[in-house]
Amino acid sequence: MAAAAVSREGTPVSISDEKVNAFKSSLRGRLLAPGEAGYDAARSVWNGMIDRRPAMIAQCVGVSDIQAGVRFARENGVALTIKGGGHNISGLAVSDGSLMLDLSAMRGVWVDPEERVAHAQPGCLLGDVDRETQLHGLAAVLGFVSATGIAGLTLGGGFGYTSRRFGWTTDNVRSMTVVTADGRIVRASEKDNPELFWGLRGGGGNFGVVTDIEYDLYPLGPEIVGGGIAWRAESAPEVLEMYRKMVLDSPPELALVAALRIAPPAPWIDTSAHGKPIIALFACHTGKVADGEKLLAPIKAFGKPVGDIIQKRPYVSQQSLLDATQPSGRRYYWKSEYLPGVTAEMTASAIDHGSKITSPHSAVIFFPLGGAIANHPADHSAVGNRDAAAVFNITAAWDRPEDDDAQIGWARAAWNDMKRFSTGGTYVNFLNEEEAGDRLKDAYGKNYARLAAIKKQWDPDNLFRMNKNIAPA
Ligand SMILES: Cc1cc2nc3c(=O)[nH]c(=O)nc-3n(C[C@H](O)[C@H](O)[C@H](O)COP(=O)(O)OP(=O)(O)OC[C@H]3O[C@@H](n4cnc5c(N)ncnc54)[C@H](O)[C@@H]3O)c2cc1C
Repeated sequence: MAAAAVSREGTPVSISDEKVNAFKSSLRGRLLAPGEAGYDAARSVWNGMIDRRPAMIAQCVGVSDIQAGVRFARENGVALTIKGGGHNISGLAVSDGSLMLDLSAMRGVWVDPEERVAHAQPGCLLGDVDRETQLHGLAAVLGFVSATGIAGLTLGGGFGYTSRRFGWTTDNVRSMTVVTADGRIVRASEKDNPELFWGLRGGGGNFGVVTDIEYDLYPLGPEIVGGGIAWRAESAPEVLEMYRKMVLDSPPELALVAALRIAPPAPWIDTSAHGKPIIALFACHTGKVADGEKLLAPIKAFGKPVGDIIQKRPYVSQQSLLDATQPSGRRYYWKSEYLPGVTAEMTASAIDHGSKITSPHSAVIFFPLGGAIANHPADHSAVGNRDAAAVFNITAAWDRPEDDDAQIGWARAAWNDMKRFSTGGTYVNFLNEEEAGDRLKDAYGKNYARLAAIKKQWDPDNLFRMNKNIAPA
């Protein structure tokens, strides 16, 4: 199998059949070339805008495959990418002519209920970890959509319904194991390689391939109070005024997400509202059920909702509530900023841009932050941005390539207006393909220089560059 590979700089690299075959036979998993069965599925990622063809895909089934892949890429000068859950908006898991390490077969989770930790392999999706930990009435701090990969989410920071209670996902990681650029297997924790551990918690995949993540777990659920509720968009000013007053003042057990969008034909929404603009709130209370019911009662009693499924439910059901809104293969483009609070001016602007949505899949969304995120100093780990009280994400999503310009144009115009509300920081995991350079400095602020020094120590040749790349200092 002769591979049409490219170097890390994008120039052609010729690798002999002999070398490729030796690599292939050193793997326990498969090595796929273009045209082979499984190649197209393996190279595909969540964002349908991304259509790239690696020279070869190593479907790793263990750490030794990952180590062999890192060594092969380094020794042959071939570009390297790593696919976890494949959910990065920029499509960072895949590039033309690269060797892709596809980790999606590595989905083991081991829970120690006594120690309240879980070890998870790097191909796990969020739902894999939730299902295993909930067997013991425990949960890790993860995100809102169960098909997202744990690796990319955690390495970039991570937040979800429980972040106001417990902090960034990465604040709740005890250790990680990494295959470094020189092929070593290294543990990083507060005790072992603490500076590397600092950088891994927010610095993305810049320092190596993570093979194991050890999460702190908290007693939670299995039953919680949560779900969605929606009103016609005409009620958006009043609903968002209520939201604004509750979102940051509620106890940290309550997370409230607000979304302006066109109503999907979901069974829980009145058919008369399907295809019409709505304002929806998604709530999740992870404390005592009675407290959740009391806190959410005013929302359920507010105005005339066109759908309401806020109720007692299993935590795992809450964690996949939004999955259907984010299918793989659709075309996506995001713009996002951290916010210092949620003001009336911000919500008015969101309503304005929400009213200009033309795609039935797009949305302007506010996610709550603050709470426990601010419990650590700004430089506790690379993720930083602990002054953020909320984050908005303008999510354009559509089906047809011919609509690219119009849909991207809407998202850019909305962001151009709403970016004035930013803390100045932005979430690295929400940055799109165009956003690098200064935007990366916005994402890391003062932590950027320290990340660049760690990059120089652990990956001076920038082997790991298909990520939001930190230039070695
Ligand atoms: C539908 C959807 C919902 C989301 N919801 C949330 C949310 O609730 N909270 C939140 O914080 N974020 C959320 N995100 C953003 C998410 O955190 C990022 O998209 C993240 O990059 C996804 O990780 P992944 O492993 O799926 O991605 P991939 O595309 O596989 O990888 C992303 C990056 O991580 C690198 N990487 C992957 N695995 C490894 C590894 N083992 N070692 C080293 N580097 C690795 C890749 O090389 C790439 O650079 C969401 C994204 C989507 C699309």
